[in-house]
Amino acid sequence: MARVRLENVTKQYEDVTAVDDVSMEIEDGEFVTFVGPSGCGKSTTMETVAGLTKPTDGRVYIGDDDVTTLAPKDRGVAMVFQNIALFPHMDVFENISFGLRLRTYDDEEIQRRVEQAADIVQLEGMLDRMPDEMSGGQRQRVAIARAIVRNPDVFLMDEPLANLDAKLRVHMRTELQRLHRELGTTIIYVTHDQAEAMTMSDRIAVLNAGKLQQIAPPLECYNEPANLFVAGFIGSPSMNFAEGTLDESGLETANFRVDVDPERIPGATVGDEITLGVRPEDVHLSRDADALGQATDPIDARTDVLEPMGDEIFVYLLLAEGIERSMEEDPASSSDQLLMSVTPDTDVSENQDVDVVLDRSKIHLFETESGEALCHGLTDRSERESGTTATETEADS
Ligand code: ADP
Repeated sequence: MARVRLENVTKQYEDVTAVDDVSMEIEDGEFVTFVGPSGCGKSTTMETVAGLTKPTDGRVYIGDDDVTTLAPKDRGVAMVFQNIALFPHMDVFENISFGLRLRTYDDEEIQRRVEQAADIVQLEGMLDRMPDEMSGGQRQRVAIARAIVRNPDVFLMDEPLANLDAKLRVHMRTELQRLHRELGTTIIYVTHDQAEAMTMSDRIAVLNAGKLQQIAPPLECYNEPANLFVAGFIGSPSMNFAEGTLDESGLETANFRVDVDPERIPGATVGDEITLGVRPEDVHLSRDADALGQATDPIDARTDVLEPMGDEIFVYLLLAEGIERSMEEDPASSSDQLLMSVTPDTDVSENQDVDVVLDRSKIHLFETESGEALCHGLTDRSERESGTTATETEADS
């Protein structure tokens, strides 16, 4: 087991900066997932830890050792990739033990390690199977067992579940969590799938265009995204955004107004361009507003498309400007729309005029230009005295 530390790691490929000044510390035994859209630098960052890529700048440490220039085999890491390369002419035992035999362990030790690893990934009784007699999930487990037998300090996994079907992927997520619990080894995991990242990790590192956006526990990224990118990337469906300008008493957007004392927003001044963010589950029909601690004033809307998901209904709303545009048969722009999620028993239909409100305690404000978060949750003074919200914590800290 070991701690992993990246210090100002940059990787430059001619005109592409694949990794841009990334620093982070991963604790011994921690499960950290690198997540972000395709091409954001997840794999390259991991490859600098694996030793498959040498950073153009910066240092990589595993434990107390500077491994920046060390060969992969000398780093105490084991890797599992998306494309499982099992030897087709070898059975499971031979596939799992291949690396050990290269390292000249004696037969007894090899047998012991392979049986233990097969047990952990639940492949007991399958050691004499050939790869083509196994399912995709079983083959992936062989690949993981092959990594386990090496007894690494750090596991590096690059989209190991990407080629599996949806059901198996969900199952393997649980298996990997169990594996982590049993082995206690540091795991760095790469995925573009934010649901995978959210469900498995102790912390997630969100990357965009080679830059680290936020590294925090999944729920912190969800509830207190550091910037607009994280807010939009984490959570499905995505957060709603509306751009506006701050005046003396609140934020005015094209379709609605939210009252807020500018002095309550750390770092903001009147006249600033601010983007409001609110998740679909924090948009409510006005008639349900009583259940909320604090709601915004009602916002005029018209229901557009409904998507019943079984456990909830996604309601696409057109706001005032969007309704006007739709009458002129112009496409509505995204700021004229709002996605609301309601419980499946909600009485709502398409093309219905409704009033909606936003849960003030769940409103996020971001600086439009830089994208940086300003606050999470709005409160007024009277609630400030009794309540606790993210805004209060931030304002006080
Ligand atoms: P991700 O894993 O997030 O999809 P990568 O780390 O694979 O992203 O790639 C980050 C960026 O670096 C991409 O723009 C990619 O095209 C570029 N890149 C990666 N490897 C190389 C390489 N060997 N040569 C040139 N460009 C590369």
